[in-house]
Amino acid sequence: MTHPAKPTASHFINGAYVEDTSGTPIPVIYAATGEEITKVYAATPAIVEQALASAKAAQSAWAKMTGTERGRILRRAADIMRERNHDLSVLETYDTGKPLQETLVADATSGADALEYFGGLAGSLTGEHIPLGEDWVYTVREALGVCVGIGAWNYPTQIACWKGAPALACGNSMVFKPSETTPLCALKVAEILHEAGLPAGVFNVVQGMGEVGGALVTDPRVDKVSLTGSVPTGKKVYAAAAEGMKHVTMELGGKSPMIVFDDADIDNAVGGAINGNFYSSGQVCSNGTRVFVQKGIKEKFLARLAERVGNAVMGDPMDEATSFGPMVTKNQMNIVLGYIEKGKAEGARLICGGNRADQSGWFIEPTVFADVTDDMTIAREEIFGPVMSVLDFDTEEEVVARANDTEFGLSAGVFTKDFTRAHRVIGNLEAGSCFINSYNDAPVEAPFGGVKASGVGRENSKEAIKNFSQVKSVYVRMGDVEAAF
Ligand code: NDP
Repeated sequence: MTHPAKPTASHFINGAYVEDTSGTPIPVIYAATGEEITKVYAATPAIVEQALASAKAAQSAWAKMTGTERGRILRRAADIMRERNHDLSVLETYDTGKPLQETLVADATSGADALEYFGGLAGSLTGEHIPLGEDWVYTVREALGVCVGIGAWNYPTQIACWKGAPALACGNSMVFKPSETTPLCALKVAEILHEAGLPAGVFNVVQGMGEVGGALVTDPRVDKVSLTGSVPTGKKVYAAAAEGMKHVTMELGGKSPMIVFDDADIDNAVGGAINGNFYSSGQVCSNGTRVFVQKGIKEKFLARLAERVGNAVMGDPMDEATSFGPMVTKNQMNIVLGYIEKGKAEGARLICGGNRADQSGWFIEPTVFADVTDDMTIAREEIFGPVMSVLDFDTEEEVVARANDTEFGLSAGVFTKDFTRAHRVIGNLEAGSCFINSYNDAPVEAPFGGVKASGVGRENSKEAIKNFSQVKSVYVRMGDVEAAF
């Protein structure tokens, strides 16, 4: 792979690229062709130590800078990311296989939004003054210390920025471990932050598998862990963090409902279902993979859906006309194909797709099943691929109960022209990130995260500041101290 944005080594520590080829090699496979395009090396214990020591050493001076000074660096990094959006998008496509049509508008741009937004907030992270007669209390919003970020493979640039930007705005330092599947993009985030003036050691990136993540999470110097990943990994990481009484943010999986009432605008609902199932080839945690359609409009909805899904352009992700890319890995492709077979075997009606595409790389056709019932495997488990389940329903009460009958609670959407019903239904759905007549919008200004098994804490918005800082309260006595003796 020769590309201007290709990182020059495996790790980024203390303000510079660091290589250590004694770590386990991690091949980087381009999902569209199956070819190895480069490799990185997993962090050895010595590399993990260097990263943690740098983060620890850099943190207090970073926290002592004014918020405005910290914010200026983050905003400068946002500008650089936007200037280099094309190169960074190509790199994101190499890392993940997602089409350039998507990466040009959803990855470095989203990362830049986070850097700009939290850079803007950094100067106004203030406490409160609480008057108590003559005495008073003041509060200070302080950094937590050293934070660890651990990313999933679907949005490597965005996840590094969604975690790094609020952490750094609050005066923390970070060691970030990308998924071994997509190791490249977070290195560029580190490089750009340092080019923008970030002091060495404040944001570090190390590569590796779960073992490296585990070493970071259990280190006593670490004060907070923010993970984006699956529920099983989340449970392990949360438990390990609890052992050291560390703060956590857990952004985990979902099996989210999207409810379409019979008065909905069908084309908008179909558009929402497409965005909520086939963007990034379905590899999105908040996807509305259980599409509940009210019985009266079911066949009309399915016909329009099949017609529009037929317009997907599958092919070379670097061609900007391509709107549908491959699965991130061969393994993920096989997992998803296994779910498709289960859907067929358990009696769901295949509307379109249902096969591996006849071309190189890990492509699966966009797949829609209808007549899906609540007990089918494809309606219960997170698939993380382009497989939409359409279920039908009669009444509002019934659909709300069925939508909530899951261990997950990340997102939920409702399509209807009746706004009273829309707000009532959303009010009754157990989910953290919800949509009315839309699906999967994720602006940095809005809190993002799940309830139930889908997670703990929120990313983005002012909520993320609360999740990367803590409050110190100070009682100030103006008079004499009374004591019993
Ligand atoms: P995984 O849970 O497999 O891995 C997530 C990250 O955790 C990876 O970097 C992984 O390393 C690391 N890891 C694995 N085991 C441990 C451990 N014991 N200790 C510390 N770190 C560990 O998720 P995927 O990468 O497969 O991503 C897909 C999942 O992520 C889906 O379930 C999806 O729903 C969820 N997700 C959630 C989002 C959200 O915001 N709610 C957004 C995007 C995805 P490695 O991969 O190198 O083994």
